[in-house]
Amino acid sequence: MNEITFSIDGKACKARPGQTIVEAAKSNGVYIPTLCHFEGLRPVGSCRICTVRSGGRYMAACTQVILEGMAIENAVPDLEDLRRAIIEMLFVSGNHFCPACEKSGNCELQALAYRCQMLAPRFPYLWPVRTIDAQAPRLMLDRNRCVRCLRCVRGILNKDGKKVFAAGLRSYEATIEVDRTLAADLAEEDARRAADNCPVGAILLKGKGFAQPIGTRRFDHAPIGSDVKKEAGR
Ligand code: SF4
Repeated sequence: MNEITFSIDGKACKARPGQTIVEAAKSNGVYIPTLCHFEGLRPVGSCRICTVRSGGRYMAACTQVILEGMAIENAVPDLEDLRRAIIEMLFVSGNHFCPACEKSGNCELQALAYRCQMLAPRFPYLWPVRTIDAQAPRLMLDRNRCVRCLRCVRGILNKDGKKVFAAGLRSYEATIEVDRTLAADLAEEDARRAADNCPVGAILLKGKGFAQPIGTRRFDHAPIGSDVKKEAGR
């Protein structure tokens, strides 16, 4: 199998044919921020936080396959600012109250905001009125925190392969729906997986609250993306 040679921010890299830019960057110890991307799920490029540039063209690094000779720009000021703008938009278009959220410290949106040093958003808060669906016995869906990454839609199937979550409406009105009948039969480990796969605190397990102490959570000691370099060095 021929190796592909390419560069990211001037660093010479190699990749296997068929790898996406995110995967190729990771195997070379380079972190490209992502949010809707989740290893093992089909990438959809919906959040655009992984936007990179090659030959003057902007592309979603989670869906674009790496090509021979690409010179990718990743950690450059204008792309970092574009990512910060997307993260700010996600904060103002939902209702995110980090100090009171069960996912705080394990939340990828919060961790990305810290990483890009987001302060006050440049956009006005919209304070949408969104509903919470708490009818399923094991989990609840709080649409106020949903960033519409579709990880739940793509990744959470019941034992018969049916989708437990679905996307409804479009654009700013887009919403996530939970099939109450399927969710009623969801095994405990699948409900836990749904909560863990959700990058924010939109899907939470019922009956669990702050079981993992603040200060011991995923991003409390290591910023998001810091594992990429370590894994590549193994
Ligand atoms: S509920 Fe969570 S996993 Fe599902 S789309 Fe919203 S943020 Fe993503």
